Amino acid sequence: MNTILAQNRKSCGRQTEISEVFVVEQADVLIIGAGAAGLFCAAQAGQLGLHVLLVDNGKKPGRKILMSGGGRCNFTNMYADHTAYLSHNPHFCKSALARYTQWDFIELVSRHGVAYHEKTLGQLFCDNSAEDIVDLLMKECEQGHVDLRMRSEVFSVERNEQGFLVKLSTGEVQAKSLVIASGGLSMPGLGATPFGYKIAEQFGINLLPTRAGLVPVTLHKPLLEVLQALSGVAVPVSVTAENGTCFKESLLFTHRGLSGPAILQISSYWQPGESITINLLPDLDLDAFLNAERAEHPNQSLKNTLARHLPKRLVESLQMLNKVPDVTLKQLTGPQQQQLAEVLQQWQIQPNGTEGYRTAEVTLGGVDTKALSSKTMESAQVPGLYFIGEVVDVTGWLGGYNFQWAWSSAWACAQALVHR
Ligand SMILES: Cc1cc2nc3c(=O)[nH]c(=O)nc-3n(C[C@H](O)[C@H](O)[C@H](O)COP(=O)(O)OP(=O)(O)OC[C@H]3O[C@@H](n4cnc5c(N)ncnc54)[C@H](O)[C@@H]3O)c2cc1C
Repeated sequence: MNTILAQNRKSCGRQTEISEVFVVEQADVLIIGAGAAGLFCAAQAGQLGLHVLLVDNGKKPGRKILMSGGGRCNFTNMYADHTAYLSHNPHFCKSALARYTQWDFIELVSRHGVAYHEKTLGQLFCDNSAEDIVDLLMKECEQGHVDLRMRSEVFSVERNEQGFLVKLSTGEVQAKSLVIASGGLSMPGLGATPFGYKIAEQFGINLLPTRAGLVPVTLHKPLLEVLQALSGVAVPVSVTAENGTCFKESLLFTHRGLSGPAILQISSYWQPGESITINLLPDLDLDAFLNAERAEHPNQSLKNTLARHLPKRLVESLQMLNKVPDVTLKQLTGPQQQQLAEVLQQWQIQPNGTEGYRTAEVTLGGVDTKALSSKTMESAQVPGLYFIGEVVDVTGWLGGYNFQWAWSSAWACAQALVHR
């Protein structure tokens, strides 16, 4: 329903002509950001009977969903629980994750007939395409009669007695509730903007420092020059951050440094100046292996022996870095063998940075959870204002956890919107 706020009338004889009409559109809920969280919240709130307007400054809804999981969208994780999330308040995400779980989303995916499979470690991917998830969300929005408006810039947000007056490039909206679902800073090429943080600032809501997460790390020049030759080589490793957090997944050498799931995971726990410790042979008792090999093939080179468990090019690079001696097994001394174990199983590397928001999958930090209700995602200071998804200081591991947070936080918010 629209309200005509002002009319400029011109009288022409008996006829009255309306020359200019300022119309303020009314909505129960205005959601800003048609990404994972915004689309899901809009659909849920719409299906609960609310008139929802969902706006986004991009051309297409769910752009990150379409790019996610290599185009197949890792839409949730079977093992999702609060332990897979980073936040200054690790308890905050518990309630939402428990109320709308991975099993709820899996049920929705199944109900829409979207075929999926577990790739590894509980990570569920679409069999066909990430478009299946965007289609699912769009159908759910249709069911909720959501009014979706793309290419809509937000010029200003004001709080008033009826809720929020929002000036958009597509008109003015008066909404009872305002939901910020504009995501974080990662991948500006996919429409990321600091909008959500600016709104938080405008309303005096605390922000925690942001940084790129799930991101490749870069290396200092001398090490990079040697390891660049390995670009494209992947190895199963375990990687440990200085705070003791450890991930056992694969590492990929790149022309800029290190990537692959193990590195993306640890990047969220890495702080500038810190080292990471890489175990290149996480499943091998190196001493026992070398002793057994020495007993059988004493004249075998150490390089060829190690190449049974590691890519040969990696062993060669480690030799160039003077980390693997150029000796036969019978020449390998006790101290050398001990040092080798340290090099291969506790290889300390100090990244010189990350690739930053340009390639990061997520943004760590953001809207301080202390300022929000964990049940509803509503701001304690500004009733009617909600923050959901990645804009909030809750960041998941790689593996479908971030979408699950988007679904769970969106669902919790939608339930609360009905009771306003
Ligand atoms: C390449 C890539 C792959 C990923 N793969 C996975 C994966 O497989 N599994 C997983 O769990 N997570 C994955 N993620 C992370 C996941 O995409 C995000 O955590 C998730 O999309 C966050 O949802 P959101 O709705 O909070 O934000 P977004 O999905 O980023 O949506 C925010 C929306 O707000 C809009 N917006 C921003 N600023 C404004 C503004 N000023 N005005 C209007 N609209 C605005 C944007 O256009 C966007 O549509 C991936 C991320 C990337 C970048």
